[in-house]
Amino acid sequence: MSVRVRFAPSPTGFLHVGGVRTALYVWLFARHHGGTAVLRIEDTDTEREESGAIEQIQRSLDWLGLDFDESPRVGGPYGPYLQSERSERYQTVIERLLAQGDAYQCYQTADELELARAEARQTDDPALPTRLHRDLTADQIAAFERAGRSAVIRFRTPLEGETVLDDLVRGRVVFEHRLLGDTVLMRAGGRPTYQLANPLDDLEMGITHVIRGEDLLSSTPRQKLLIEALGGTFPETAHLSMILGADKKRLSKRHGAASVEEFRDAGYLPEALVNFLALCGWSWDGETELMSVAELIERFSLERVNSAPAVFDHEKLAWMNGQYLRGLDMAAYTAALRGYLADAGSPLADAARLEELVPLVQDKIGTFGEFDALVGSLLEQREPDAESWQKLLNDDHAARILAAAVTALDRLTVFDAETLESALRGVCEELEMKPRQAFGPIRIAITGSTVAAGLYESIAFLGRGASLARLKHAHAAVTGV
Ligand code: GLU
Repeated sequence: MSVRVRFAPSPTGFLHVGGVRTALYVWLFARHHGGTAVLRIEDTDTEREESGAIEQIQRSLDWLGLDFDESPRVGGPYGPYLQSERSERYQTVIERLLAQGDAYQCYQTADELELARAEARQTDDPALPTRLHRDLTADQIAAFERAGRSAVIRFRTPLEGETVLDDLVRGRVVFEHRLLGDTVLMRAGGRPTYQLANPLDDLEMGITHVIRGEDLLSSTPRQKLLIEALGGTFPETAHLSMILGADKKRLSKRHGAASVEEFRDAGYLPEALVNFLALCGWSWDGETELMSVAELIERFSLERVNSAPAVFDHEKLAWMNGQYLRGLDMAAYTAALRGYLADAGSPLADAARLEELVPLVQDKIGTFGEFDALVGSLLEQREPDAESWQKLLNDDHAARILAAAVTALDRLTVFDAETLESALRGVCEELEMKPRQAFGPIRIAITGSTVAAGLYESIAFLGRGASLARLKHAHAAVTGV
């Protein structure tokens, strides 16, 4: 049987790190087995839906290069892939379950349920409040209807026995039926719940493996019972552990970037993020870190997914991104950088000499987000960084250093990094200063900041005219003339 797996996000917000890791594992598993990756949007909960979320999810997946074979956008033989367009199917199944006696109408009000829950806390049957209407007589039903109450539909969960799940990640998990309660399958008014729509779509779409977050594990026995009541076979499951922040708390906004687009905006490469996320809970040999997408596809297996929580290590991601950036050739680096700057709306995206700056930054920056601060001022005239400029003004030696630098650079006929290095070292000797001390004011004069790329390379890039002008401007500021 060929593998069919799905990623089934609810459009209740942006695609966060945990969700995208699930999407990646689903996709890698499908590609590894030569199977089919399905994207299904679970938009039955219209109240919690966030506008634009569906587009955002699709955009994030596109950026990461996770192409799904069937989806709302590309369609496919099992569509529609938006649950909001599958209402009739849910209704049909509810009618069948009601007719079979596997589902029933429950007329409890929210207050009644709340009260029953409070009472049940003292008993050894915590799920009892969900079952209070399972055996209503026709007369009772008629009375509730007359009173204008509307019913939800609940599943009649067996009271005895247990459901045994052999999860591909978590191993054997046993669920006592008595504790599950009667799950709501359809809300009053006819909207299906996740517990109905999700397993039913898995059944109808021929899904062979459900790969999803561990937070949904408690839903699994309910969904398995439902599918079995419909005569279907429940898919294999793999429940992925949570991703935690470095402080071992569940990953959230507090830990920094949480959505895929934030990583894109901060200048990470999709290849690096994919590689990094693959290792958030999976490893190939416990050692190898850098793997291309092709290698990940070849090596991925659910057997090597770790059931312990994964820790999201920002430092490791930055390191990995740096590795990917360093591995790009000039043309690829320039193209990716240009794309990043264009997305960020930076005017530097169109800079004709962008490629010449690649050697200045490639070994230095871990993300494209750092590019601007390091060399942006070489591409355009900017106001200097206030703190750095103040440091320049406070430096008692600055006037002397800048004057000597102007004289030394003015003399040069060749203006490359090598010549500049020996000229500026000559300035140090002449002033009897260490480069560390003498180069501070020069760096601020040239780049407007204490943080910059290599000094000689920066001056060479800027060229003779502009460099001398900046040095003279700084000198005038320092001396007040
Ligand atoms: N739609 C569910 C959610 O986003 C996931 C369903 C699933 O993977 O089974 O939480």
